[in-house]
Amino acid sequence: MNIVLGIEGTAWNLSAAIVEEDKILSEYSLPYQPVGGGIHPRDAAQSHATNIKKVISTVLDKADIDPKNINGVAFSIGPGMGPCLRTVATAARALSLLLDIPLIGVNHCIAHIEIGKWLTGAKNPLILYVSGANSQVIGLRGRRYNIYGETLDIGIGNAIDKFSRAFNIRHPGGPKIEELAKKGERYIKLPYVVKGMDFSFSGLVTAAINAVNREEFSIYDVSFSLQENAFSMLVEVTERALAYTDTHELLLTGGVGANSRLREMLKIMCEDRDVRFFVPDKKYMGDNGVMIAYTGLLMLKSGITIKVEDSTVKPNFRPDEVEIKW
Ligand code: AMP
Ligand code: MG
Repeated sequence: MNIVLGIEGTAWNLSAAIVEEDKILSEYSLPYQPVGGGIHPRDAAQSHATNIKKVISTVLDKADIDPKNINGVAFSIGPGMGPCLRTVATAARALSLLLDIPLIGVNHCIAHIEIGKWLTGAKNPLILYVSGANSQVIGLRGRRYNIYGETLDIGIGNAIDKFSRAFNIRHPGGPKIEELAKKGERYIKLPYVVKGMDFSFSGLVTAAINAVNREEFSIYDVSFSLQENAFSMLVEVTERALAYTDTHELLLTGGVGANSRLREMLKIMCEDRDVRFFVPDKKYMGDNGVMIAYTGLLMLKSGITIKVEDSTVKPNFRPDEVEIKW
């Protein structure tokens, strides 16, 4: 039986977990909350540095195991914010050296996918991965996760957060905009940008902010229309990728996957196409330590570990760079 301790800390959530084969032994998070504005990389890293000792000792205590029984330590090596990645990597390296156990550098996007598959039982799904910084339509082809479509500028979560920040709504804006959108009564025209299989959110956000600022439309109607456009763009590309790859399973993952309107739109599309739609527990859709520990476990069992001296973080690490050996 392998036991892996995993640490996530690419952006807002400092989170650790201990996983044994298919069982979560413990998990604990101390998220960073910006005082104002969005996630500041240096502030977030400072918060992670302050909290990391507590997070790691808490998961060790909760799992009630002797650290000597841990077989590997996994961490998010990228993509993410440089200062945050480096803070978490330093802690992971120290643990690996102290306990004399292998170090495992996990691709954060792949971890979102693997935990989703594990928790839902999806076998070979197409994946819509929608988080703060990332938005991608992904599918496993041979031994790589291929990216069929992705954002050309910012991630959907960051786009919605940016819109909300313009109106002094506290970070993260996603759940609050979802509530405002429910009160929207009419659809207003905003940019809808799909280019081939890729999409873009920057222009849409700027237009949405302007529409409210010019007092032409209420924040409720604009929030509603912003969601309708952004999510339709995602659903359009996802549907095309499902058709192209002849896939009959769809997995939704990433923090924005919590949005009920996005889920509703995807569900309708999946029913039309005879596609099974898989949605993991909300708790494991956003960044969390369990996904890193679990993916670390899969990697450890496939012999994929790294030496401390080779464990430089990769802020722009893409999921298609990883050979999937498990
Ligand atoms: P992640 O990077 O995967 O942890 O996801 C964080 C992102 O999810 C942030 O940008 C949040 O605003 C966004 N988010 C969380 N809940 C919701 C929601 N209900 N609707 C839209 N976005 C959300
Ligand atoms: Mg994420």
